[in-house]
Amino acid sequence: MALERTFSIIKPDATRRNITGKVIAKLEEGGLRVVAQKRIHMTREQAEGFYAVHRERPFFGELVDFMMSGPVVVQVLEGEDAIKRNREIMGDTNPKDASPGTIRAEFAESIGENTVHGSDAPETAAVEIKFFFTDAEIVG
Ligand code: GDP
Repeated sequence: MALERTFSIIKPDATRRNITGKVIAKLEEGGLRVVAQKRIHMTREQAEGFYAVHRERPFFGELVDFMMSGPVVVQVLEGEDAIKRNREIMGDTNPKDASPGTIRAEFAESIGENTVHGSDAPETAAVEIKFFFTDAEIVG
């Protein structure tokens, strides 16, 4: 299994409740390493651009408004099989379906305000990392 990188966001519902440390602990305990990280407040342009793939979905406006509603922590995670591993640690999109012990089961408030984002494939991980980080900002 190869060492892989994935992109992660700790969403505004988590920064608002001051639980970013608890979320990061779950990721680290799950075998992932934070190799780049910054706290930002997304602009509308960033939020719409990042979620452009969901533009036609009925919840797009709500999703963009939510992602701009407070600061987020964007990060690059590294580890064995990091993309799949991160999705396992996150749990299902809807916290009602998320397995016990996952971030979304423990912390998410709803299907929309669900605490974390994680890339779903190598191609999206590469694009999403580049959307927020330069190579020089990924420090291992
Ligand atoms: P993910 O890969 O598990 O994050 O899920 P998706 O790619 O399907 O959706 C992206 C994000 O859109 C989710 O993490 C939610 O924040 C949001 N989202 C998905 N479905 C809904 C919904 O039915 N209502 C709302 N308000 N937001 C949703």
